[in-house]
Amino acid sequence: MPISTPIHVTAHQFPLGHGELTLGGLPLTRLAARVGRTPFYAYDRSLLSRRVSELRAVLPPAVKLHYAMKANPLPALVCHMAGLVDGIDVASGGELKVALDAGADPHDISFAGPGKSHGELRQAVAVGILVNIESFREIDALAAISQELSLPARVAVRVNPDFELKSSGMKMGGGPKQFGIDAEQVPAALAEIGCHGLAFEGFHLFAGSQNLKADAIVEAQCKSYELALRLADDAPAPVRFLNLGGGFGIPYFPGEQRLDLAPIGANLAALSQRASMEMPSAQLVIELGRYLVGEAGIYVTRVVDRKVSRGQVFLVVDGGLHHHLSASGNFGQVIRKNYPVSIGNRMNATEKEIASVVGPLCTPLDLLADRMELARAEPGDLVVIFQSGAYGASASPQGFLGHPAVVEVLV
Ligand SMILES: *Cc1c(COP(=O)(O)O)cnc(C)c1O
Repeated sequence: MPISTPIHVTAHQFPLGHGELTLGGLPLTRLAARVGRTPFYAYDRSLLSRRVSELRAVLPPAVKLHYAMKANPLPALVCHMAGLVDGIDVASGGELKVALDAGADPHDISFAGPGKSHGELRQAVAVGILVNIESFREIDALAAISQELSLPARVAVRVNPDFELKSSGMKMGGGPKQFGIDAEQVPAALAEIGCHGLAFEGFHLFAGSQNLKADAIVEAQCKSYELALRLADDAPAPVRFLNLGGGFGIPYFPGEQRLDLAPIGANLAALSQRASMEMPSAQLVIELGRYLVGEAGIYVTRVVDRKVSRGQVFLVVDGGLHHHLSASGNFGQVIRKNYPVSIGNRMNATEKEIASVVGPLCTPLDLLADRMELARAEPGDLVVIFQSGAYGASASPQGFLGHPAVVEVLV
């Protein structure tokens, strides 16, 4: 096994068979034949289901679990997730369509994101989903739409808190932000919501993403709860919905430790106990994207060429950053690090070498593995990039250089 591939990734998630990685019971070369071409993403539906049930075992039953579908909006996958979770969080009118097509109950869909268009807000009111309001302009627009459609918009206020999520890969709250309404302006927003007769349901706080530190998540959830409790004093109606965010991370890089769920579950149990007294009609919700789907997916790309340049081995593959921007290190990473990578049809190979995996694009940024220890590979072999179920195809510039779009399958 390559030294820089965390053991847990391959050993637990995807068993080996006949020296190959298997996914959904199929050895990799069979899977590639089934898909019909490379490159492709494959997601394992049994791993998705297992992840949700493992999480449910730790979370108190009173806390609802939502899937934030921007992590992976593949319709078949959203359909599978809709059957497992308690709600879907969408971030655009396009995602809303996928969630509705997947059969999600509009009551359990919420919509967050800055810059929601008038058309998107109108879609949301017409179908009766919950809108997480992020500005005063949205309040005015929703008031007009509610009148026009004779349907009061269901709203929660997305709060930009007065604290940050510590140790987060991507901060989305605290300080000046484009997300949500600053906590100190929320009382004024609540007054307007009341004035316009919108159906106030609660608060949404999302502090950040890709966090592997349980204590930082626990602290953010406690502070979010306290803040919501304070803001509830000015609310035009009792809080029925309190979305405490998520931000649960997954390990990508050597040395990263898996998130410890136990303290988070215990803290949520304590908060839900408090909520039953302090905000008795409030439903606590957490919303997760990456954590639910990230480890269930792989990206598979075929070696097209093997070159040696001044002593360094380059495996040139048919996929690259245009399909998998995150693995190239260009999606929010400060310092480029290698995702876990293997030669998926040579998992038992004893002959190893140091090689770089590069894509076909005319840019040095198209780098999927930088000088990693891998099984010695030849053209035709299949390179697998693990931890690829979230922020993959849909978060990549697929039009760049005019190569074919990637195929995605749910197995
Ligand atoms: C992106 C996003 C999520 C999902 O984040 P993950 O890190 O993938 O879990 C959840 N909620 C909101 C509001 C988001 O913008």
